[in-house]
Amino acid sequence: MKFAMIGAGAMGLRYGILLQEAGNDVTFIDTWQPHIDKIREQGGVYVMRDHKDRHLTKIKLETPETYDDDPDMLIFFTKQMQLEDYLKRCEHFFNDRQYAFTCMNGMGHIEKLQKYFADDKIIGGTALIATVLPGPGEVDFMGKRGAGMMNMCPLNEKPDDMCYQLFNELKKAQMNPTLTNDFTGTLMTKVIFNSVINTICTMFEIPMGEFGNFKGAYQMGRQLIDEAYDICARAGIHLVSTRDEEMAALDHNTRIDMPLHYPSMYQDMIKDRPTEVDYINGYIANLGRKYHYEAATHLFVTQAVHLAEYHRQNE
Ligand code: NAD
Repeated sequence: MKFAMIGAGAMGLRYGILLQEAGNDVTFIDTWQPHIDKIREQGGVYVMRDHKDRHLTKIKLETPETYDDDPDMLIFFTKQMQLEDYLKRCEHFFNDRQYAFTCMNGMGHIEKLQKYFADDKIIGGTALIATVLPGPGEVDFMGKRGAGMMNMCPLNEKPDDMCYQLFNELKKAQMNPTLTNDFTGTLMTKVIFNSVINTICTMFEIPMGEFGNFKGAYQMGRQLIDEAYDICARAGIHLVSTRDEEMAALDHNTRIDMPLHYPSMYQDMIKDRPTEVDYINGYIANLGRKYHYEAATHLFVTQAVHLAEYHRQNE
């Protein structure tokens, strides 16, 4: 399959390089100039796995303005706040035949994609796959080959041939995909998951295991989970896990799967980049307002992360 990977950051590189290694034609499209310059100067990207086995991998890299091809599938892996700009700059190579797929965190991106792609061409998903971009031109795939898992679902909840083809290519690339049948429920379940781990670890600048092993972790997590689940119930969103299953997944992920990992929200904050908190906890709180529910804890932690960003910027 011919892919255009829009956003060649941590996740774009991980998905794109693994799809390329599985035999697909992948072109990466990015706008961060120091990253583009470094990749061109090195003749590729330095790829590591858990900080080890650093090796150069050749990739095809373009900017939105220089890319002029017709891929079957566009994969979007930008940060939420970058997506609008990427869409505008890439619009010249979009057409009705193409599909748009994304596993970005947070919410807000689907509405933006809908301005450019028909609903039956949008496939959304979530990724429980940790990847770090230590600096321009290098990427660290956390976990062994085949580590992590992901969910995917077409926006119209009717998987077609292209959706199955994508699923098969992701499977060959060892991304461990599961095809689900509830679009909003799939995405929101992950938003809620991130609203606990990403946010708390960013506020306190701690790795995930430190939160998971803290004796008050259950109470803190449960409060955020309960608010979010109450809101989703009012909004008629069917989450793919029960509250208890979500709590168990949080516990397993933080203490067992990735205790040493710092979530991507933290990685942004320490690089003085804006975080996605408004699209995660902020999104949940705004959804609550629509249904006359005051998500006090989500509102509080949204501002707490902004305070942490502000503190960093003023250091
Ligand atoms: P990323 O920040 O690594 O890359 C996104 C874009 O930002 C790329 O275009 C990249 O070139 C650019 N960029 C990276 N560092 C920059 C800097 N210092 N200054 C300016 N531009 C910079 O983002 P990501 O981690 O690939 O995340 C993409 C989406 O996937 C997000 O929604 C994220 O929440 C989600 N996600 C990430 C992970 C993860 O482990 N990284 C896991 C699951 C989901």
